Amino acid sequence: MEYKIGLIRGDGIGPEIVTEAVKVLDAVAEKYGHKFNYEEILMGGCSIDACGEPLTEEAIEAAKGSDAVLMGSIGGNTATSPWYKLPPNKRPEAGLLGIRKALNLFANLRPAYLYPELREACPLREDIIGDGFDMMIMRELTGGLYFGERKTEEVDGVMTATDTLTYTEKEIRRITVKAFDIAMKRRKKVTSVDKANVLDSSRLWRKVVEEAAKDYPEVKYEHMLVDNAAMQLVKDPKQFDVILTENMFGDILSDEASMVTGSIGMLSSASLNETKFGLYEPSGGSAPDIAGKGIANPIATILSAAMMLRYSFDLDKEADAIEEAVKQVLKDGYRTIDIMPQEEEKKNTVKQVGTKEMGDLIAERV
Ligand code: NAD
Repeated sequence: MEYKIGLIRGDGIGPEIVTEAVKVLDAVAEKYGHKFNYEEILMGGCSIDACGEPLTEEAIEAAKGSDAVLMGSIGGNTATSPWYKLPPNKRPEAGLLGIRKALNLFANLRPAYLYPELREACPLREDIIGDGFDMMIMRELTGGLYFGERKTEEVDGVMTATDTLTYTEKEIRRITVKAFDIAMKRRKKVTSVDKANVLDSSRLWRKVVEEAAKDYPEVKYEHMLVDNAAMQLVKDPKQFDVILTENMFGDILSDEASMVTGSIGMLSSASLNETKFGLYEPSGGSAPDIAGKGIANPIATILSAAMMLRYSFDLDKEADAIEEAVKQVLKDGYRTIDIMPQEEEKKNTVKQVGTKEMGDLIAERV
């Protein structure tokens, strides 16, 4: 098969980690007989430098013309970079918000998977970790409290701030369908998280989830209140497969879930729209502190590329091959600096490698 992939290398470590993901994609193309055509797209600080704005119309059109977009990260040092002297709507991050909106990316996916080799990075007790966990947080990204009407005003002489949380049936249904589709590719369980004991929006959420679930008889689903979900994530994370939730709950729970898996350099993510299109990127930022040093961990970006193959191109076998190659490299004892063991005696049991070598090692194992 032939696919067109938009590449946003971005700023900081972005270009370094995207190069390694492309290397791994090319290894997949060669092994499985596909053709990936790449189109470079400027966004973020590099676009400000080249075009005077973080996201141009041309860049949006190029992204829309691709089958999927793979991104590194954007932004610079917020204290020292001249990009942060610009008004907020001209800064690098405005590019990211702009492209999410332009492409209607309403579903955010963040896997939380604990690699056996990186168990010691997990802050949970051994008996809770057991033989590890593997979940996917599915967060609604374009509705809810963050996008509702807000105002701050004086009411009867008292400053009063109001935010509104609104969801339509349509918004809930489209993310629910995505979550059930994704559960079908996994262990076929959905936990829908809400606050239905208090919020009207959550009661509508539940009703729509129940209706949509009828089309997926193979998927087991349950409802869970968000306060309980926050506890269960650290008490028994193994119980979860797909966690489906609204924007703000997902914002908080996805960070909690990622913390229990260890390093930021391992965390992939995807943002999807109603078609097969998606924007795939590591969860971390542009890490200006280590940019250009050749030490950034490219694994989150490589795993984001695997998600792209699975969710945008339906190339499950190829995505499995990348994920297995990552597992094998860790098993073989290779680590970038961010995932090196902390204890001195354990450091001798593994070998520290740089960004490029990690990419080579994974590509070789595909
Ligand atoms: P950051 O994620 O860039 O860095 C936090 C820490 O994690 C740093 O010590 C960094 O060295 C480390 N780190 C991050 N990714 C790593 C990797 N792949 N390998 C090894 N170590 C890694 O967060 P920050 O410092 O708060 O933000 C830096 C810039 O990135 C800011 O301009 C911010 O706005 C931007 N940012 C962009 C995105 C995005 O592109 N989606 C997301 C978050 C932050």
